[in-house]
Amino acid sequence: MKLFLRTAMSALMAAVLLCCGCADTGAGMARQPEGGPGAEDGDGARKTNAGQGAGGPWQYADTAMGTVVQQTIYAADQETARDFSAQAMELLWGLEREKISWRLETSEVYRANASAGSEEGFLLSADLSALLESCTLLWERSEGAFDVTLGAVTRLWDIDKWAAESSQEGFEPPGEELLNQALDTCGSQKLRLVEEGSADVRSAESSASRESRLRLFMPEGMRLDLGAVGKGLAMERISALLAERPDVDGAVISLGGSILTYGGKPDGTPWRVGIVNPFDTAESIGILTLEGSWCVSTSGDYERYVEVDGVRYHHILDPKTGAPAVSDVRGVTILMKDGLLGDGLSTACFILGPEKGMALAARYGVEALFVMADGRIEMSDGMKDVFRK
Ligand code: AMP
Ligand code: MG
Repeated sequence: MKLFLRTAMSALMAAVLLCCGCADTGAGMARQPEGGPGAEDGDGARKTNAGQGAGGPWQYADTAMGTVVQQTIYAADQETARDFSAQAMELLWGLEREKISWRLETSEVYRANASAGSEEGFLLSADLSALLESCTLLWERSEGAFDVTLGAVTRLWDIDKWAAESSQEGFEPPGEELLNQALDTCGSQKLRLVEEGSADVRSAESSASRESRLRLFMPEGMRLDLGAVGKGLAMERISALLAERPDVDGAVISLGGSILTYGGKPDGTPWRVGIVNPFDTAESIGILTLEGSWCVSTSGDYERYVEVDGVRYHHILDPKTGAPAVSDVRGVTILMKDGLLGDGLSTACFILGPEKGMALAARYGVEALFVMADGRIEMSDGMKDVFRK
């Protein structure tokens, strides 16, 4: 048995490569350097600085939500950059702990899952109400390809474990019977979201536009898995945080397959965001040149996977079969202003493939890029304007 496993760290370092203030390599790409000069800042987080002058960049790396967080920050002074980066990390850890983790008893998703099968259901916060509402709309529009009710199945595949452990000796795909039992609990058509009053319950930290709360009813055994939108939600929150920090001039925040650009650099040059080459994850397949604030979200079969006897079991599941989606796509990148939807859309488009996926992206008014299994790249027109090989 031959096994390959990506750790969370390496997968996400490779998920999308960044060029911001760093010198490009021969391949036209540069990873953000780790452990560079002046690495220790004494603030606990691993930190890397790359020859910054006045205004930055200051670079920080840490982990949250099972993945690597890289921050490149432009601000008048280092103290501001350090302060913002610490605030962003707190936000990410808080989001995981209090909202989206299905493992931690402290989180809302955990408690919502525990309510499955109950008559009273579960009263969601305003922000998770908005999140689940957009997830069910995406489920509908993607003809069921995107489905956050797949939790029982994703757990069976033990996706989180692939990323968390350095060895998967003994990995076996789940048997058909178990898979079918788990699949029986899934399907967004089986959940109900019921409006609960219209009082303004928007919490201060919420960036959701919805002001009322929904009560969630799930059948026995159903489990939510927000893995496909969690990083997007995080990006949205970090955008909101940046909007409250006029002292931060520019930033690139990378969280697994999601990247946020914000503001600008002191020298006025654009952001350069590399898209990983699925055939060689140490390389880029091209670069997006972006001005100002954007979210770039990528989903691919190379991000988290186990390979057994030449068969690749990756982390994006087809809700019809409960198995890794069989696709002629290796990776999908969505470019848009709203990180949350971008994250969900890149997952959905991976399963749908370029024809239906491109139509879905157009329906949401966002740009899409598909790297096909035969090496071709298919792009929306707006993506062609910013993408260079
Ligand atoms: P992403 O890396 O954003 O494409 O999201 C993949 C993650 O979303 C997986 O690790 C699962 O937790 C979850 N997931 C897998 N398949 C689906 C699907 N068809 N719809 C929604 N979420 C999914
Ligand atoms: Mg996603």
